[in-house]
Amino acid sequence: MSLIDTRHDQIFPVLTAAQVAVARRFAEGPPRSFAGGEEMAAIGQVGAPSFLVLSGQAVIYRRDGAGAKGTVTTHGPGEITGDVSQLGGRGALVEVRAGDEGCEAVCFDAAHLRALIIGSAEIGEAVMRAFILRRMSLLADGGAGSVLLGRPTDPALVRIEGFLTRNGQPYSVHDLHDPEAEGLVQRLGLATEHLPLVLCPGGAVLKAPSDVELAAGLGLMPALDPAELFDVAIVGAGPAGLAAAVYAASEALSVLVLDGQGYGGQAGASARIENYLGFPTGISGHALAGRAFNQAQKFGARIATPLAVRTVDCSGRDQHPPKPFVLTLTDGRTVRARSVVIAAGARYRRLDVPELPTFEGAGVAYWASPVEARLCAGEEVALVGAGNSAGQAIVFLAPRVRHLHVFARGAGLEATMSHYLIDRINALPNVTLHFHTEVTTLSGDAGSGLQGMETRDRSTGETKSWDMRHLFLLIGADPNTGWLDGCPVALDAHGYVRTGEAWDSPTWTALGRAPLTLETSVPGIFAIGDIRAGSAKRVAAAVGDGAQVVASLHRVLAPT
Ligand SMILES: Cc1cc2nc3c(=O)[nH]c(=O)nc-3n(C[C@H](O)[C@H](O)[C@H](O)COP(=O)(O)OP(=O)(O)OC[C@H]3O[C@@H](n4cnc5c(N)ncnc54)[C@H](O)[C@@H]3O)c2cc1C
Repeated sequence: MSLIDTRHDQIFPVLTAAQVAVARRFAEGPPRSFAGGEEMAAIGQVGAPSFLVLSGQAVIYRRDGAGAKGTVTTHGPGEITGDVSQLGGRGALVEVRAGDEGCEAVCFDAAHLRALIIGSAEIGEAVMRAFILRRMSLLADGGAGSVLLGRPTDPALVRIEGFLTRNGQPYSVHDLHDPEAEGLVQRLGLATEHLPLVLCPGGAVLKAPSDVELAAGLGLMPALDPAELFDVAIVGAGPAGLAAAVYAASEALSVLVLDGQGYGGQAGASARIENYLGFPTGISGHALAGRAFNQAQKFGARIATPLAVRTVDCSGRDQHPPKPFVLTLTDGRTVRARSVVIAAGARYRRLDVPELPTFEGAGVAYWASPVEARLCAGEEVALVGAGNSAGQAIVFLAPRVRHLHVFARGAGLEATMSHYLIDRINALPNVTLHFHTEVTTLSGDAGSGLQGMETRDRSTGETKSWDMRHLFLLIGADPNTGWLDGCPVALDAHGYVRTGEAWDSPTWTALGRAPLTLETSVPGIFAIGDIRAGSAKRVAAAVGDGAQVVASLHRVLAPT
């Protein structure tokens, strides 16, 4: 049974007459009439509104990038169209057409929709739940979103799948060995050197696209006006950045969140977070991040991904009033903000083996999501690491692979891994732990990917060769501060950003105030989450920082 069958009433709620009367007060304008069969919103349309049907019907069609079409549902009076795309004005995944007898409806663009959701808690709850479930249904049931054509083991295809998954975009993969997919490539007049191909639901065909090209093709990139001045620019959409966005936007600050990858950060790579308060059965990092992403959008935070910040210009901060911060993005665009929150977290550590770059994405992975698990299903797999992230990956991967070899440089797991994970690993029959051991060499080539590796026992010096096509590296992370080079925020000896200290400098003396909680050595710039020196490196701690920083933001943004 599909999600639509089991949760039909929640996915397609019908507002009462009283609720419709309330909702109409938040609409963009007076009711509009659509003739029978008229298109109300197109697939791929950026900024397509939601429609509350007043009379007649609106039919929802899905169509994937290869053109396969189907009817999702028919909305009658009191029903509202849309899914989470509408909250952020992103590219629509379904088409809306007036039914045969036509349709009268009121429209809600993203801003009016958010006003409705916040303005009426009762309607807001029903609409948010419906939108989230509709996206889950499109993700689970298929038939909508992008079609990927290529070879399932191609690293470029795996990267694209990772990007779409991280960004909550539905897709299906068509293996080129399948004659139907091959025929489709030929019909499109494309050659195999263009692989992998992405057939976007809006009709665009992308040849081996980068993440940025993919986001643009799917209508995920927001328009950014370089003249707009945000109250706060948040760098990073992991748990810390998303929490700051939720609290700041819900307290009426104008918020821009930028992330070079997608939303969720490191937490998004966690197969199951079991120690986050309020989720006794655990929750996948991706699901947790997806909820936070929708919540931040509901309050009006603008979230721009994949857009990394390359530099922050902090000059002119001693003028009266201080010049805004100018953030230059990797695509060359600039944005301006009155304050900056650094929530850039940490980046996975790499193995010190010269051949490593050849095999990244071609056998070597830094997280264990269902995409990677599918590629190594039933095979022998190696994993390096002894911390909690390694423990979670072991527990997730072991039931899906033939045998899992775990390599750690230390003498055991007790000092670095939670006990509940150690207990679970000890109960897994197909996991072998190799302590005092390091990976020294990788072999294979770019075409065939990883084929083997060599390990060395650090206590005996003994080396061993392994036939191995899959290696997971979960060996910790370093702070993501490279982009702060031109900005004089003080770092500690390990490169983490220092906050809340009594800075002794002319800037602070002239300012006449002490640094606020979570404020860095540069007034108006704050640091939260894993990147902050002394933080707990946990989801809950990152979220706590995100909530706490907002009080400090209000103080620096208050008129003097
Ligand atoms: C596999 C794994 C499992 C984990 N499991 C748990 C767990 O069970 N429980 C727990 O409490 N913790 C867990 N953690 C730790 C937890 O995920 C982190 O503490 C938490 O994600 C930190 O959040 P953050 O927002 O500070 O940083 P991050 O999650 O690291 O997010 C930072 C974000 O900033 C972005 N970014 C970096 N530089 C830039 C830039 N220049 N421009 C724009 N964006 C940028 C990155 O792309 C990233 O999305 C786990 C970590 C991993 C890796």
